[in-house]
Amino acid sequence: MKTLFRNAVLVNADGSRTGDVLVCDEKIEHIDDHIDDPAATVVDCTGLLLFPGAIDAHTHFDLDVANTTTADDFRSGSRAALRGGTTTVIDFACPNKGESLQYGLELWHKKADGRTACDYGFHMTLDDWNDSIRGEIPRMIAQGVTSFKMYLTYPAMMIGDGAVFQALRELKRQGAIAGVHCENAGVIDALIAEQKAAGALSPASHPLCRPDLAEAEAVGRLLKLAALADTPVITVHTTCIAAMREIEAARARGQKVYVETCPQYLLLDDRRYKLPDFEGACYVCAPPLRKQSDQERLWQGIAAGEIQTVNTDHCSFTWAQKEMGRGDFTKIPGGLPGVETRFALMYSYGVAAGRIFKEKLAELLAANNAKLYGLWGRKGAIREGFDADLVLYDPKGTHAVRAETLVTNTDCNPYEGFQLTGSIRQVYLRGSLAVENGHILETDGGKYLPRGLPQLF
Ligand code: MN
Repeated sequence: MKTLFRNAVLVNADGSRTGDVLVCDEKIEHIDDHIDDPAATVVDCTGLLLFPGAIDAHTHFDLDVANTTTADDFRSGSRAALRGGTTTVIDFACPNKGESLQYGLELWHKKADGRTACDYGFHMTLDDWNDSIRGEIPRMIAQGVTSFKMYLTYPAMMIGDGAVFQALRELKRQGAIAGVHCENAGVIDALIAEQKAAGALSPASHPLCRPDLAEAEAVGRLLKLAALADTPVITVHTTCIAAMREIEAARARGQKVYVETCPQYLLLDDRRYKLPDFEGACYVCAPPLRKQSDQERLWQGIAAGEIQTVNTDHCSFTWAQKEMGRGDFTKIPGGLPGVETRFALMYSYGVAAGRIFKEKLAELLAANNAKLYGLWGRKGAIREGFDADLVLYDPKGTHAVRAETLVTNTDCNPYEGFQLTGSIRQVYLRGSLAVENGHILETDGGKYLPRGLPQLF
């Protein structure tokens, strides 16, 4: 099967050009100023931007948290992803303490295999550290899991500074990399106890218990542990000026640090927690939303190349689930949806708003994730030989984000009413039309992607 995308503006991280793209079966076969192929179906792309399919390297589908399970499983989450221009997700396999990494990986395959509409891979969570876990790392890498997640907060997940240090050294030795959730657990617990003692139990207390300096302390500590272990590291969902200062300091010492942020930290601020009628619960996530000045710092960081990726931390709950925390903000399941809206929000508030160039969007959503997570050569760019994962974006027109038009399995939509510039016309997954004007078409489905080692940049 051949498809010829004609007269497109091809947008890649390293530059844009106009031309034709010939796709043969699942791959991009040829790119040129003008291509003729009588055997190909022609798609006229005049006036459209052709982006590489986006990669979301931070999703949580079908995850048990806070005595409930995320609203999106791999089926609904991956359909939402595709509809939003994301053709690959990397989700976090998460064994419980005491379970083997292999058990966690097999469990995540059971959740995802045969139900996932887009391509997918897994990170592995290290919420335990001992000789047996250490010994499993080569086996994970052999199965295509080359990135690992650690937590400096959450008692059920954290492993302590000594174990983080040892794990960072071991991952470096194996050529793998870690992303780390940075917040100071002790400070957060103390502040929660204070809020509870004062009877302050509404969502407004949530950001007060997780201040920016508690994040920055943990970012600074992680980066020193990484320096001691002599390894690059990723700070995931980075939110604020204070954290960026720690990252600047580490880079000034000569360290390699990869920084991820998320649309919620670029577009929403902490005034949302004070909304009446428990509405603030929708925005409960960790780290919490910050100030407008923090948002501006993150946008600057993106434009200046200090921030390498924008992923979503998609972790969705319905209003009914958020209700479990009415009367106790610590019982509100934490997380926001985002996988369906990231591309159009980042185009609208980044590119169309004049904050970043369209090539930067291709870098943030596709190329850098592909390199960092071992998918480059196959994903992350419109190049000959790469998978034909393509997003046809029409930059004309405006419309508003409305929960009822989204396929994400939640009625809790943090971006309700946000104006979008342009829209996704079509999405192709490995050469097959997967989405057309918002309608999801059945393809052969997503494939598990065994990933290579990170390609550092
Ligand atoms: Mn997360």
